[in-house]
Amino acid sequence: MNNSTNLSQAVALDQTDPLAHFRGRFDLPPHVIYLDGNSLGPLPKATPERVQQLMHQEWGTQLIKAWTACDWIDMPQRVGGKIAKLIGAEADEVVCADSTSINVYKTLSAALALNPSRRVILSTPDNFPTDLYIAQGLTQQLGQPYTLKMVEADALLEHLNDEVAVMTLTHVNYKTGRLYDMAALTQRAHEHGVLVMWDLAHSAGAVPVHLNAAQADFAVGCGYKYLNGGPGAPAFVYVAKRWQHGARQPLSGWLGDARPFAFDSTYQPAPGIGRFIVGTAPLLSMVALECSLDMWMEVDLAEMRAKSLALSDLFVEQVEAKCAGHGLQLATPRERELRGSQVSFHHPEGYAIMQALIAHNIIGDFRAPDILRFGFAPLYVTYADVWQAAETLARILNERLWDVPAYKAVKKVT
Ligand SMILES: *Cc1c(COP(=O)(O)O)cnc(C)c1O
Repeated sequence: MNNSTNLSQAVALDQTDPLAHFRGRFDLPPHVIYLDGNSLGPLPKATPERVQQLMHQEWGTQLIKAWTACDWIDMPQRVGGKIAKLIGAEADEVVCADSTSINVYKTLSAALALNPSRRVILSTPDNFPTDLYIAQGLTQQLGQPYTLKMVEADALLEHLNDEVAVMTLTHVNYKTGRLYDMAALTQRAHEHGVLVMWDLAHSAGAVPVHLNAAQADFAVGCGYKYLNGGPGAPAFVYVAKRWQHGARQPLSGWLGDARPFAFDSTYQPAPGIGRFIVGTAPLLSMVALECSLDMWMEVDLAEMRAKSLALSDLFVEQVEAKCAGHGLQLATPRERELRGSQVSFHHPEGYAIMQALIAHNIIGDFRAPDILRFGFAPLYVTYADVWQAAETLARILNERLWDVPAYKAVKKVT
């Protein structure tokens, strides 16, 4: 492609980028091009001080008084309310709690209980493993005739019937970056009396999400990916207001009780979304997530989406222009409306190529069996980064720099 973007054009795009000022608010190591914020978001510069403040001024100074004096006790709701703004929900429909996996368990359990004459959880075999594994554990726990049925994405509609209690899908596929039409699929499911639980791990902070507008029933998502909450940051759970009163989840811990400090011996679920809380929140992690969310509250989500797509388009254009003939095959849909905020390529030597890229300070990741995955987080990735990443990938392929034993030894975390 002779008319492909050159470096000075990429730099010019950065100069007019309305989100450019956010990059300086992240503590990114120099010379690293970070395209893995879809797996672990980087550290916001404001976070260490906020965590220190919680440790020294709150925990260290006020001890147990801080639960009320510093409003620790309402933190799951408060942080949930901030996440709600990023996913098109009301503040009292989201709480920050537990891990995504545990929230999958809670929401699928609640959905099955709300649809008691039906025994099938419907999903796809390419859903993220934890969603499928939790569904398998849950159906095993409930026993026959509960089952998890997995069908390919393009066969979902024909499997919506009166045996299915809940359909659960990951909105943006973690491998390919393919984006489902949330509103259309939710509507089709509802026409068959099927509830829908969306996993937003690769959506929150990556694409605009409109849970309420789509009439979504349940959703869960992750705090440590695009939301930059830090490793192991707590996750979130959304329950549409119309279900909150009837929804019961089996992890009926004391902080999901209506009056935890009554210390009653019989559980009474809290009114509203509060019943999706289980026990005491990990405050140090939650405050780190909140710190990043406070930055997110300044982000125009339409600008986020526009830049995410532009970065992704530029990467596809550059890789296809510079790496032609090396066997990379695009795994991500070309249509903008079918894409999240990542670009993936298949390559039989994907693992070694990614290791070589990482050794050259271009950090993406690898997903078995053959996917090179690149995340484009619009708050800190620049057009020049994207250009440079494609340039380095081309050099690694042209010079076969990946073809050494050191890059082929598979690590525990890929
Ligand atoms: C990352 C991810 C998770 C992570 O679950 P944890 O319980 O935080 O380990 C869940 N679902 C999807 C789709 C993910 O991408």
